[in-house]
Amino acid sequence: MAILSNKVALVTGGSRGIGSAIVTQLVEAGAQVFFTYRSSAAKADALVASLAAAEGSVSAFASDAADFEAAGEAISRVVESAGRIDILVNNAGITKDTLMLRMSEEQWDDVLSANLKSVFNLTKHALRPMLKQRAGSIINMSSVVGVFGNAGQANYAASKAGIIGFSKSIAKEVGSRSIRCNVIAPGYIETEMTAELDDKVKETFLGNIPLKRMGTGAEVADLVTFLASDQSKYITGQVISVCGGLNM
Ligand code: NAP
Repeated sequence: MAILSNKVALVTGGSRGIGSAIVTQLVEAGAQVFFTYRSSAAKADALVASLAAAEGSVSAFASDAADFEAAGEAISRVVESAGRIDILVNNAGITKDTLMLRMSEEQWDDVLSANLKSVFNLTKHALRPMLKQRAGSIINMSSVVGVFGNAGQANYAASKAGIIGFSKSIAKEVGSRSIRCNVIAPGYIETEMTAELDDKVKETFLGNIPLKRMGTGAEVADLVTFLASDQSKYITGQVISVCGGLNM
């Protein structure tokens, strides 16, 4: 039997990058997967079509994770259609990088809303059905930048550090109901988000990575699949890096 057979998952921001790799692996592992995106409907449709023959099932819909009401509707949609929600992957995220002296209030608010408030929004609504089930695995996507900081990313680093404190608190609040909450802190992963970095910055990063290469979305998804499965059922409140050793 596939490792995630009979499990129902919601992945935010599944249309591209790390999210699409996560969706692919969860579906291939037998889960019934729902994923959201903000605007890239064509990419979402193509991903759904590419997984038609996979072990599990998949469907996608537009939903802004930063919007509290929309997050509630997304969770209701999953529970009404699948009867439960076992796995929540809060993956959606954005960057609006600039040095602090140039950072506008809007750049701060946009990044905190999309990256941190979104995690509150989805978790808040998912907890009720998970508490009823007395089971659930919540996986939140932070970053090594949330642990170490990064010049030019004060808004992003604050949002990703916030996810860590939030997740550890949730792990403590709901652990007695067998609901787990863990954090993944990727390093530099090849996606559209990191394609924006200029070559000089990339070269400096690569020099600091012991494994001397960027990671792939699939390598992050490997850890998501493990944390989503019962194979990790005694693991909660942890921050696990997928970064080629960058955090040493
Ligand atoms: P990406 O390629 O830019 O994809 C971002 C995804 O999030 C897209 O599917 C996007 O939807 C969705 N999204 C953005 N804002 C949203 C919102 N408000 N509501 C719903 N969906 C939203 O990013 P990525 O590189 O795969 O990153 C995925 C996650 O990993 C992020 O949380 C990021 O911070 C984290 N991370 C990435 C790296 C890296 O090196 N790439 C490193 C550490 C952490 P649309 O396609 O519709 O825009």
